[in-house]
Amino acid sequence: MSAQIIDGKTIAGKIREEIKEEIEILKKKGTVSSLSAIQVGEDPGSAVYIRSQRKSCEAVGIGYKLHQFDSSVSQTEMTEFIGKLNGDRGVSGIILQMPLPQALDARSLQAAIHREKDVEGVSAANMGMVVFGRPILGPCTAMAVMKLIKSTGVNLYGREAVMVGHSDIVGKPVALLLLDKFVTTSVCHIATGERGTLPDYVKRAEILIAAVGKAHLIKGEWIRKGAIVIDVGINRVEGKIVGDIEFEAAKERASYITPVPGGVGPVTTAILLKNTIEAAKLRVS
Ligand code: NAD
Repeated sequence: MSAQIIDGKTIAGKIREEIKEEIEILKKKGTVSSLSAIQVGEDPGSAVYIRSQRKSCEAVGIGYKLHQFDSSVSQTEMTEFIGKLNGDRGVSGIILQMPLPQALDARSLQAAIHREKDVEGVSAANMGMVVFGRPILGPCTAMAVMKLIKSTGVNLYGREAVMVGHSDIVGKPVALLLLDKFVTTSVCHIATGERGTLPDYVKRAEILIAAVGKAHLIKGEWIRKGAIVIDVGINRVEGKIVGDIEFEAAKERASYITPVPGGVGPVTTAILLKNTIEAAKLRVS
């Protein structure tokens, strides 16, 4: 039997409805939520992302402000500007658009964002709360993965999960969030691939998450029958966006599967909006 498709757009729509209600309550209390994005230089990829952020914010009633800088801006100037946004009570959340020019140290600029305004959840403080199992502003994509898994209603306790990819923003936090639900979790990465043992791991997974960035790296025949399959990967192949997993073949073995596009992506954006509201609440509490 073919897997049930986990519809990220519907889940994102539900999150947005909850956000709209929260915004109304906040407005009555005189709290306005707003997101400030910082862009340095002119990366075409981040321009697309910025347009979609603005549209998503406006659709729910979150203010959106873009601050653009020339690629010659210095680390000190950027740090000072972030400091100004940190101190501005009208700013609930701050996003630093990636990529940044090579001359800037992205990690230390990200660290300059106040943890209560770090709506991407990438600061050491917010990642630390993931380790403790109590994310406040959690890393958006990792939180989206957990939301998608939860939407299946499957009891996770004692299950076996395999996380393919160990990035700071997806693979590592997803693994920690799963551990917190008592899921036995393996994390695979490039060295697993090079050793040739990736199929052995994937075959064990009752819950499989891929965040690699290599089109169709994970073969449909590796998928364990009845698995929950979450594909984070975004790859462009012959003008089409595809994931890291062979969707059509995997669908025939999994019990639940996310499509690409329309799975993790829309939920990630919705979590960003949710974090912005949470950040607005932190500012007034
Ligand atoms: P990354 O690019 O920082 O790291 C890639 C990971 O894949 C590393 O852990 C690496 O070791 C591993 N890897 C590479 N080749 C491998 C192989 N052959 N076998 C096993 N592991 C291998 O990861 P990222 O930033 O988490 O991004 C991963 C993918 O997810 C990208 O396609 C990115 O565009 C996408 N992404 C999507 C969203 C979303 O909202 N949908 C958000 C973030 C990232």
